[in-house]
Amino acid sequence: MLREMLRFVIRNLARFAYTIIFSLALTVVLAIADDDRSRAVAANQSVAKAARIGGDIHRTRFVMDLSDKVPFRLFTLADHYRVVVDMPNVRFKLPKGAGRKGRGLIKAYRFGLFAPGKSRIVIDVTRPVLIDKVFVLPAQNGQPSRLVIDLTPTNRQTFLAKLKETRKSRSNMLQNKVTAKKTVQLKSAPRQSGKSVVKKTKLPLVVIDPGHGGIDAGAIGVGGTNEKDIVLRFSKLLKKELGRRGHVRVKMSRSKDVFVPLPERVSFARTHAADLFVSIHADSIAKRRAKGVRGASVYTLSEEASDLEAAALAEKENRSDIIAGVELPPPTSDVPQILIDLAQRETKNYSVVFANMVVGEMRGSALIKRDPIRSANFRVLTAPDVPSVLVELGYLSSRADEKLLKSHKWRTKVAVSLVKAIEDYFAKRKLNRLPMLLDENLGKLTASGR
Ligand SMILES: [Zn+2]
Repeated sequence: MLREMLRFVIRNLARFAYTIIFSLALTVVLAIADDDRSRAVAANQSVAKAARIGGDIHRTRFVMDLSDKVPFRLFTLADHYRVVVDMPNVRFKLPKGAGRKGRGLIKAYRFGLFAPGKSRIVIDVTRPVLIDKVFVLPAQNGQPSRLVIDLTPTNRQTFLAKLKETRKSRSNMLQNKVTAKKTVQLKSAPRQSGKSVVKKTKLPLVVIDPGHGGIDAGAIGVGGTNEKDIVLRFSKLLKKELGRRGHVRVKMSRSKDVFVPLPERVSFARTHAADLFVSIHADSIAKRRAKGVRGASVYTLSEEASDLEAAALAEKENRSDIIAGVELPPPTSDVPQILIDLAQRETKNYSVVFANMVVGEMRGSALIKRDPIRSANFRVLTAPDVPSVLVELGYLSSRADEKLLKSHKWRTKVAVSLVKAIEDYFAKRKLNRLPMLLDENLGKLTASGR
């Protein structure tokens, strides 16, 4: 009896072992295949490790070292004067702080992922320039491959004439993409504040929008922290925390270090029929004013800014597309104005109510700025039918705030308080318990940020 039992166990053990060995072998095979694939990808990818500027205001040369020769496309933009170079799949591994210092005709330059598989360099120039020469040298004599751009000064008229010429020949792919996404129709009539007839079976959708990304680094901290990295880390945490509790669905406008134009962030929320849009940022202000300025604040959309500081911040955040070298088509009005007005009024109310809830919850987890609820004309908050707020987690220009922003523990604490605000908002909204502010109340609430 005992022997039989033993035999049974051994037989099954053997079978079990076979399974393990087989799956291990399979894993190894798959891992090797995977490794091959990543190596293939890596082989296609040129790496930029260094860049330098030479010359003076009569002729300035920009050089970037690349591990492999890559095709490129170059164009210029006016107001502000910029030279933009697009290349497929370049990985930038330049030293920290590269591009912040200019020379000659070059004020500064930046680089990064512009869209998946598409890398970009944007060179800010001090005045109108001509591209005298541009070429990629193949690697030779132990030297890496090099992208070389020679710039010479010109006048505005010539610059604009050249710009027109190149624009014609330029691929309009990006432009078309932006335009197409802009023409999203208002998905439905504005939602009723009172009794909703159609019962929603799906969980509400929150779009988390980590600011900046790729070529647009956002604010840079006193200790060198990039806003784009810190807000992405925070957003991922927020997504995880929301997902863990399962009361809402979550989508992110970007989940890696890639640039996303502002209009695309708005249309992302609208095409997915988001119920809430939360843009995550971390501010920074000039050194001379930075002393002692810290803490979190929350912003909503308004045509007129609640105060000068909010106006300046909106202007700075709205520059994202300029920084990335995106040329936007003139705004098209594709939704009847009256529909926008109706939807926007209600949306605005909800945005302000939610902003208050966020600040209420964050008081328990973070240092909150005085007058924390403010408003201004933020381009990223302009979806007429999605309540939207922009959260500035703190100031990267403050050493104390930067330290907190870099702390996983702090970020978790703040993310959890945001989760509470979001869940509370939807719970109350479902029960129609959210205050619907009258316009004058809205004014009063917004004015509290003054
Ligand atoms: Zn920002």
